[in-house]
Amino acid sequence: ADVSELLLSHIRDVPDHPKPGVMFKDITPLLADPAAFAALTDTLAALSTRHGATKIVGLEARGFILGAPVAIRAGLGFIPVRKAGKLPGATLRQSYDLEYGSAEIEVHAEDLAAGDRVMVIDDVLATGGTAAASVDLIRRSGAQVAGVAVLMELGFLDGRQKLERALEGAPLEAL
Ligand code: 5GP
Repeated sequence: ADVSELLLSHIRDVPDHPKPGVMFKDITPLLADPAAFAALTDTLAALSTRHGATKIVGLEARGFILGAPVAIRAGLGFIPVRKAGKLPGATLRQSYDLEYGSAEIEVHAEDLAAGDRVMVIDDVLATGGTAAASVDLIRRSGAQVAGVAVLMELGFLDGRQKLERALEGAPLEAL
C-alpha cells in the first residue's frame, strides 16, 4: 500500500481557518485513525534512523504529537522546541520573521550539545520560517542537524526554498 495516499486520505481541508482565505490542513482525522497514525510514526522513525539521528526534536504544538511516538519508535530521546516563555530551565532562543511581526522559539540549553544529531519533526511546512529557525537554533547549540521531516509540505508557499537555505545540504523529507 502507498503510505502517502493513506496519510493524505486522512487529512481534512478546512476553509477559512484560522482566518478568511486560508485553507487549513487538519491532521486530527489522521491522529484518530490508529493504522494511519502508526504508518506515519513508523515512516518518520525509519527516516530518522536512516539519516543517523541520535535525538528527535518536535516543534510546538503538533510536532509534539508526532515527534513523541517517533522518538519512542526510533529508540531516541525527545526534545521539545517551544514558543518563548514556556520552558522552565536555561534556554537558547531564536527569533524569526512572520508575515506581520516576529516570533521566538526556545530549547533547553542542556538538551542539545556537540555530538548530537537531531531530526526535526513537524506536521506542516508552510512558509518554512518555523522549521528554518529551529535548524538555526539547533546548530547554535553545537548539535548537528540530521534533517527535517514533515507530514505535509504546502508547495505553493515556497517553504522548501527557505528551509533548504538553512539546512545547508541536510535533507528535507515531506511525506
Ligand atoms: P511556517 O513557519 O512554515 O509558515 O508554518 C509552519 C507551522 O505552522 C507549523 O508548526 C504548522 O504546525 C503550522 N501550520 C501552518 N499552516 C498549517 C496548516 O494548514 N495545517 C496545520 N496543521 N498546521 C499548519
